[in-house]
Amino acid sequence: MEIARVEPMTTARAVRGPFDYRLPEPMVAAGVGVGSLLVVPFAGRRLLGVVVEVAAASDLPPERLAEPLEALEAGAPAELVRLGLWVAERYCSTASRGLALVLPPGTRTGRVPRSPKPRTERRAAITDAGRAALEPGSDARLGVRQRAALERLAAAGELAGARLRELAGADSVVLARLERRGLVERPLRELRRVPRFDAVGAPAGASRLTAAQRGCVAALVAGLDGEGPRERLLHGVTGSGKTEVYLAVIEAALERGRGAILLVPEIGLTPQTVGRVAARLGDRVAVLHSGLSEGERFDEWRRLRSGEARVCVGPRSAVFAPIAGVGLIVVDEEHDPSYKQEGDPRYDARAVARHRAAGAGAVYLAGSATPRPESWAELDRLELPERVDGRSLPPVEILDMREVAGGVGPLHPTTREALATLSRGGAGAKAIVMLNRRGYAPHLSCGACGAAVVCPSCDVSLVLHRGRAAVRCHHCGHVEPVPAACPGCGSVSITRHGAGTERIERIVGEIVAPAPVFRLDADAVGGRDGHGRILAAFDRADGGVLVGTQMVAKGHDFPDVALSVLIDADSTLRYPDFRAEERTFALVAQLAGRSGRGERGGRVLVQTLAPSAPPIAAAADHDAAGFLAAELVRRREFGYPPFSALLAIELSGADEGELAAAAAAIAAELGPRLGSDAELLGPAPRFRRRGRFRRRLLVKSGQPERDAAAARVALEQPGVRAALRGVTLAVDVDPQ
Ligand SMILES: [Zn+2]
Ligand SMILES: [Zn+2]
Repeated sequence: MEIARVEPMTTARAVRGPFDYRLPEPMVAAGVGVGSLLVVPFAGRRLLGVVVEVAAASDLPPERLAEPLEALEAGAPAELVRLGLWVAERYCSTASRGLALVLPPGTRTGRVPRSPKPRTERRAAITDAGRAALEPGSDARLGVRQRAALERLAAAGELAGARLRELAGADSVVLARLERRGLVERPLRELRRVPRFDAVGAPAGASRLTAAQRGCVAALVAGLDGEGPRERLLHGVTGSGKTEVYLAVIEAALERGRGAILLVPEIGLTPQTVGRVAARLGDRVAVLHSGLSEGERFDEWRRLRSGEARVCVGPRSAVFAPIAGVGLIVVDEEHDPSYKQEGDPRYDARAVARHRAAGAGAVYLAGSATPRPESWAELDRLELPERVDGRSLPPVEILDMREVAGGVGPLHPTTREALATLSRGGAGAKAIVMLNRRGYAPHLSCGACGAAVVCPSCDVSLVLHRGRAAVRCHHCGHVEPVPAACPGCGSVSITRHGAGTERIERIVGEIVAPAPVFRLDADAVGGRDGHGRILAAFDRADGGVLVGTQMVAKGHDFPDVALSVLIDADSTLRYPDFRAEERTFALVAQLAGRSGRGERGGRVLVQTLAPSAPPIAAAADHDAAGFLAAELVRRREFGYPPFSALLAIELSGADEGELAAAAAAIAAELGPRLGSDAELLGPAPRFRRRGRFRRRLLVKSGQPERDAAAARVALEQPGVRAALRGVTLAVDVDPQ
């Protein structure tokens, strides 16, 4: 008797699988095994379940074993089932949530799914008899349209019905007649829903590798062949041609019969990388991302599963691509925070990629101009210190905003002058101005009593958006009209403080007029293609300025950009977060890298109130190695990653008293269970959000697996479970 251990796909945390089912002979014969999807009877319902193990016997007596109701055709590879279960364990989630990550699109919920069907198309193909009918001297009598259709088909072999009508005026009646006479066949072909990309900016095209690139490729191929380290960091300045290295190693993996995964931060923000990979590898590459329709995603997934496509490109979820025999996993722009999933399980795609690569004997390659300190410390390093075009990195000028007199507004006089000079300089020169804050003004307050205009549900200021004549909360989406008077004292003197992208757009527009100004931020982007549309418009424009949030510093390359400006470079340093230094360095360095990629050379201006802050000073010197060395010293001193691992327990609730009690109960159970080298910080209050109070406990640990297990046990204690009623809990392993 064969027993299938099945994990039911339910979101309920209390369900503890797997559960045993008896496999009937036909299902065994049909090859039901690890990764198969079954419909099973479960607590009086029909549920979808995943087979996680097949065993010869069960601990339950045979009469208590039910049989699955149905085996679905779709399923996940066994390797990915193990990976999904590992993610569930590692990130303190449930098995079903971990498994949902690796299942085919459309089958990821507990409902018994309607799987998307392959799309088909009726085509026409010429037969041998059809070719004979076209021979001179044939006695076949053909109408004008019949002959035209056959001639087209003789040239093309096979065409879609609709295309044939276009080309030869042959409609379905004509085709039906030809088919009856045996002159054509009408096969039904499966059609692939092809996702589209717009490549923006610099053109693609294979280039000859530089000596430095060839050295990196050789080292990576050695890893692929088991003759060198398998975990690598490719540290290359912006413009040093990292993508060409990825492509060469992907091709080497394919030549060795192995597959590859290329992770990118966000497809929408990296159309150039994706476009280049697709152009080079053609049909061998599949793209998985959330912007696809369900049908497109299903088709891409199936092409990978069947082995028709051997390379997958996509954002973090592509780490679960169903590629057998994966030989290489590349994480491009490895410093990007989007590799961390925010929902449950809160997995880090970089850690999952590393784990998957290690299990598959594959090469793990993280690439960045501004790598994370963890990667710098842990991975064997390859360097691309120079740009492929031989140009040097642009000089960076730091503008100390403390030195300028009040009343000049958000732009330093040098910045204003540089923008004015650029627009006077004539056609073609472009600038990028970045400020990591949306809206017009981030704070409003009463000029009489000083009261700030704040969100009713969150402890944050409302942001003025002039374009929509409203103040908005960036945390909960609350919108209200711009207040005409202070709600506290009735004064009509409302003062605006600070600047967001909307205000900078306006100021820059006045300086560079009549040159165009484009704004790129979450408000301007709007729908699915908004981002690409704005970048394409800036690319086509003959001069002009792109103003925006950090979106402007990501993954594109405009050769005409001769000036880059970063406003309020130290804003990220003010976050109470141990990654603040790393993020600030990355922001300044990435923006600097966008400038001076073409003939015009480049100039970079960084406005800041903290000109001597190490991340800003090091980024201005293009000194990643210096910054990372100093940052690792600081991390060691404070016991932050990579010298410890962090685990956060986030709590929120509508009642502050209940929340405090729950946090205290967890702290009391967790503290004694942690290893002696672990440190429990908090519970610390965090700002109220969406009407909910929040608390956070943080564990710094030298042995994360041990302490994550301790956390799971602590959270199961009856006292804690009782205290958690009415409180929402999330466990965040390796919080970002
Ligand atoms: Zn007031
Ligand atoms: Zn709010």
